[in-house]
Amino acid sequence: MNEIKGGIGVQTEHIFPVIKKWLYSEKEIFLREIVSNACDAVTKLRRLISLGEEQARDIPDEGFKVKVSLDKEAKTLTVTDNGIGMTEEEVQKYICQIALSGALDFIEKYEGENSNENGIIGHFGLGFYSSFMVSDKVEMLTRSYTGAPAVKWSCTEDGSYTISDDAEDAPERGTSVIMHLNEDGEEYVNSSKLRDVLDKYCSFMPVEIYFDDGSEKKEDEEEKPLNDTTPLWLKNPSDCTDEEYKEFYRKVFRDYKEPLFWIHIKADYPLNFRGILYFPKINTEFESLEGQVKLYYNQVFVADNIKEVIPEFLLMLKGVLDCPELPLNVSRSYLQNSGYVNKISNHITKKVADKLNSMFTNDRENFEKQWPDIRTFVEYGCLRDRKFYDKVSNSTVFEQCDGKFVTLDEYLETAKDTHENKVYYASDKVSQAGYISMFEKEGIDVVLLPHIIDTQFAQLTESVKDGVKFCRVDSELADSMKGDSAEEISGAADIFKKIIPENTEIKFESLKDESLPAVLNINEDSRRMEDLMKMYSQRGETMPPMPSQSTLILNSACPTIKALSEKDAEKAELIAKQIYDLCLLTQSRMTSETLKAFLNNSYNILGMI
Ligand code: ADP
Repeated sequence: MNEIKGGIGVQTEHIFPVIKKWLYSEKEIFLREIVSNACDAVTKLRRLISLGEEQARDIPDEGFKVKVSLDKEAKTLTVTDNGIGMTEEEVQKYICQIALSGALDFIEKYEGENSNENGIIGHFGLGFYSSFMVSDKVEMLTRSYTGAPAVKWSCTEDGSYTISDDAEDAPERGTSVIMHLNEDGEEYVNSSKLRDVLDKYCSFMPVEIYFDDGSEKKEDEEEKPLNDTTPLWLKNPSDCTDEEYKEFYRKVFRDYKEPLFWIHIKADYPLNFRGILYFPKINTEFESLEGQVKLYYNQVFVADNIKEVIPEFLLMLKGVLDCPELPLNVSRSYLQNSGYVNKISNHITKKVADKLNSMFTNDRENFEKQWPDIRTFVEYGCLRDRKFYDKVSNSTVFEQCDGKFVTLDEYLETAKDTHENKVYYASDKVSQAGYISMFEKEGIDVVLLPHIIDTQFAQLTESVKDGVKFCRVDSELADSMKGDSAEEISGAADIFKKIIPENTEIKFESLKDESLPAVLNINEDSRRMEDLMKMYSQRGETMPPMPSQSTLILNSACPTIKALSEKDAEKAELIAKQIYDLCLLTQSRMTSETLKAFLNNSYNILGMI
């Protein structure tokens, strides 16, 4: 038996302890590295065969495959491929020099970086030596496709290795990597754990992968690969059916709700990446939205939700992206500033915008049906990325209280004659019902902006569209609600002055709706400021004091207001209080104190029978 002994050189002697310590949190990537090397070895051989390379000509009868086997008793994990294999010189070169120096470079560069926070995406680039994160000894039995003698390489965690020709157990052609699991690898002496890790990283690798945990197989049980070697994203969009897209979505995201729609991206040179992005079915409330965008590198899973590559707002979607050009063996901060990554991210944003625009233009009815599910995504995207806003703003719609959907331009067109450039909106259809019906009686449409993000989007629209202003229905009266001239009734004003807060102004209007005694308006800007403060201070339930710019509008056309000053003082005050409390109620500004007082007051009025 020929044997060469070697020691991993001086500068490298600390590599194993560093690998183990530094990468502790994500040690499962060792399996991805070893299995993807095995797939690469098969891919290389396939290529040689397709090039007509003489020594490589025959395709194995059982087909090309990678086998992952667990021996629970021996505590070994073996990854075997029938790929290109290596000669002794190649083992020396690729394993003892290149793989090692690759791992060393990698560690030298990133030692000290916190691998969890701003570290390396999926620890790409570490390669073969990551097997030592979980093993105290790694053996490799390999036979080159060239017919050169098989070789055995064996290395322990202290860095000393041997190369020998004691390799009868080597595959007929290809390589076996045998990992002797140590204490850190103990958790992988477990079939379901291994299956999970294989599912996570290897589900779409390009060579069939089989897992054998040593358990007995049922007769007639057909062995199935655990991966899909030709994932849907690689196909031409025109060759994929809706059912295939849905099936892929179910399988990858284990979401049994059907996606709303999807975008299949195929960017050719120079970007050269592919992917499928799904719009999941969600129901607004933006806090609960969490998508999942999986990043792959040549069909090898890297990590979920890499915000350096995918614009943050797109992380609300679910999808897969395969970016073979991505420089992954660099740190995240580098990626963030990479021109290439910016181009990818812009391209994806553009595709998403194109899809929304084409849905809006070509099938408006369906678009409106989907709108409640996608509005938060669209609005958030617009808020985060001005370019996205510019691209999709003509396809965003507002839902009106009457159930219709309109674009901003459509709304403004209808409003031209009565309230030019103004959009009236409600944030709560129930509590603002009184105000809404005042507007609707005048034929004025009211749009609904129920969530904080909707109002933020409205503010963005105001800042972009010159002159456009959103006004909540309880912030002002539309001109068309008012009659001709308002007569001041000083007696009535005096009564109200006694019972309302000092900073509330009193104004008279002659409203067309004579049955309405008074309306309380709070100026839009001052209420927005108040909302902002509330959001910051998270003050919860208690109502802050009335904002400075609130106005009690008394309807001089209403008989109650007209008659108020003619009643005896006590009665008049009781009625005035009731009117003001009703205003507070419609503004949802009751506190427990004012509510109690309101009830007492109401009982007193009932007592007047
Ligand atoms: P990388 O795969 O990024 O090149 P690795 O450290 O994982 O780095 O592997 C180094 C080299 O060792 C590979 O490029 C390849 O030439 C060789 N190698 C590793 N595993 C195998 C295998 N199963 N079959 C053939 N060659 C292999």
